[in-house]
Amino acid sequence: MTVGIYIRVSTEEQVQEGYSISAQRERLKAFCIAQNWNEHKFYVDEGISGRSTNRPQFKKLMKDVEAGHIKVLLVYRLDRLTRSVRDLHKILDHLEKYDCVFRSATEIYDTSTAMGRMFITIVAAIAEWESANLGERVRMGQIEKAHQKEWAALAPYGFYKDDKHKLHQHKEEIEAVKLMVQKVREGFSFRQLSIYMDSTKYKPRRGYKWHIRTLMDLMHNPALYGAMRWRDEIVEDTHKGIMSKEEFEQFQKIIESRQNYKKRNVNSVFIYQMKIVCPDCRNRCSSERSVWKRKKDDQQVEKNAYRCQVCALNKNYSTPAFRIREADIDEALIIYMNDLLLEPSSTRIMKDTNPGDELIAEMKRIENQREKYQRAWASDLITDDEFKNRMNESRIRYVELKAELEKLKGVRYDEKDIEKDKENAKLFKDNFTALTPEEKRSFVQTFIEGIEIEIVERTKAKGFRNQKIKVADVHFY
Ligand SMILES: [Zn+2]
Repeated sequence: MTVGIYIRVSTEEQVQEGYSISAQRERLKAFCIAQNWNEHKFYVDEGISGRSTNRPQFKKLMKDVEAGHIKVLLVYRLDRLTRSVRDLHKILDHLEKYDCVFRSATEIYDTSTAMGRMFITIVAAIAEWESANLGERVRMGQIEKAHQKEWAALAPYGFYKDDKHKLHQHKEEIEAVKLMVQKVREGFSFRQLSIYMDSTKYKPRRGYKWHIRTLMDLMHNPALYGAMRWRDEIVEDTHKGIMSKEEFEQFQKIIESRQNYKKRNVNSVFIYQMKIVCPDCRNRCSSERSVWKRKKDDQQVEKNAYRCQVCALNKNYSTPAFRIREADIDEALIIYMNDLLLEPSSTRIMKDTNPGDELIAEMKRIENQREKYQRAWASDLITDDEFKNRMNESRIRYVELKAELEKLKGVRYDEKDIEKDKENAKLFKDNFTALTPEEKRSFVQTFIEGIEIEIVERTKAKGFRNQKIKVADVHFY
């Protein structure tokens, strides 16, 4: 098995410590040895920025991947590969197609699962967003770029960027945008439009459903008439739009006139929409805003909550309908995921005890330990030699355990599912807390089919105060 090691440095980076080609080369070689990867091949692009698509060695590497010569693509850090989310998507898809795994020596990503790919994309998106928001100096740069009709941010849906950061209409996406505009003109609300778009062949860039927020942003974007908005500045004639400026202004008036209700609160992102299973009747809970006056300062407070409408309508029901705050689900979910990972004898596995459980648990512990070594090594806390030794020792033990597990095969229940859940749980714990509500929502909606809640202590009053709940089970797609 050959590992393709990709190294890239920009001209500015070459003078920085630790980034030089030889430094990356040495560390990556050490990493391969520690992983017991015997064959490796270097592909080095020197003096090339992360945004450039003209990377001859990278192209060569991809050719070798396509030919089936390379089974692992290793980089020192994700940003060596690309700084563009769109590119990253493309690259990961491509690698998967040719059965090649992506690894970063200093970051833990597992692209062999859908969840891992999701996180890596989020990490890249955040990095890209941060680098686009590095303060006034950068802002000036962005406006400067806009004046040169270059698009610094992600291309909006309907468009793509070329090498020179110019926007062009994306053949299929622009058809979708034109259809949206037509439907809004015909009188569709954004809610109706989202349902309608879901029924068409057009899919959003991420996820599988059109969200109202996305559609609103799209329909308000001056990109529609060939202009670029950066914060509150607009630069016109940056690319070819699909309507004139007058038409765009008219279009905005149409949209505004329909929004007779108060502006949507940004916080009304329901993370667990249609995912919470009612513990009493097993129907899915509806999302709601719970609004109350806080006693201490008489301020109005709003929180997201979920309530079972089926139980609420059932008047014979002796207890109040099940209701839960979003924050309580967040908390319970993290506890559940942690337990799933850290407690090998959790209730879920206890259901079916198996002699392989302990072996699996120990293997998992070793895997975790190996990740810790990798982190320590990446942060220069241990030397290359120490790293090699520790990785070697742990691998020997791991191989022994695996052999024992093989012997037990045949009597095993669906261990693969549990392993998959555990892996997901770990990624979840590491990443979920860092996400914004929108990202959490997109994550939950994409990967979780349903969340089962168990009432530990039922509240007698209407409020949530004395209710104690826990997450009983999570079903992943
Ligand atoms: Zn119910």
